[in-house]
Amino acid sequence: MPQVNKHAGSLFIVAAPSGAGKSSLVNALLAKESGIRLSISFTTREPRPGEENGREYHFISVGDFLERQRHGDFLEFAEVHGNYYGTSRTQIAEYMRAGTDVLLEIDWQGALQVKKQFPDAVSIFILPPSIDALEQRLNKRGQDSQQVITRRLLAAGGEIAHAPEFEYVIINQEFALALSELTAVVQATRCRFNQQAARSSSLFAQFGIHANTI
Ligand code: 5GP
Repeated sequence: MPQVNKHAGSLFIVAAPSGAGKSSLVNALLAKESGIRLSISFTTREPRPGEENGREYHFISVGDFLERQRHGDFLEFAEVHGNYYGTSRTQIAEYMRAGTDVLLEIDWQGALQVKKQFPDAVSIFILPPSIDALEQRLNKRGQDSQQVITRRLLAAGGEIAHAPEFEYVIINQEFALALSELTAVVQATRCRFNQQAARSSSLFAQFGIHANTI
């Protein structure tokens, strides 16, 4: 018997190895789709040139991170490439209460933790078109040292090994196509019975559609 969620918001998890073009795809999605917000994670890594505190991440110290973790502030957290990353529990709760779709750009470890707590969360894995393309993108970004790039390239294999745990896979060969596929997943999710029932409750009532009678 399907349970109607009081809130129309859906939770999207997007994961990828560094250099797969995940952030560009997500930013383009957020620019064209309203009603979906990005969760700004907390991290202990140093800001890259051009990054702003509170925009890409909340940049905090290891001590602060561990303190927040002890307080249970994180919905999920993980150590990735030698730094800590975590999703704010209160931020997600706020968005979901307001019925807003929320997108989490997190790694496979975080994805697993979120899926356990929100089995309806929609998980999407972004794959680069080849290992060569991945290496080229990491080098081209020019924001990380060679040591960091090598570390991330090695880690990419580990991240990709977890792709089968995700429901959707998008191959980012051609940006426009990948973006339309990502948008399609978001739009299809919004048409799920529970989401529609929560969003259009009076219409459903007019037709006498009640989830608990199906
Ligand atoms: P970057 O440092 O390149 O921004 O991110 C490195 C990795 O950490 C990426 O795979 C990114 O998705 C992941 N990440 C970012 N924020 C979070 C978070 O809040 N939780 C988890 N588990 N991973 C995160």
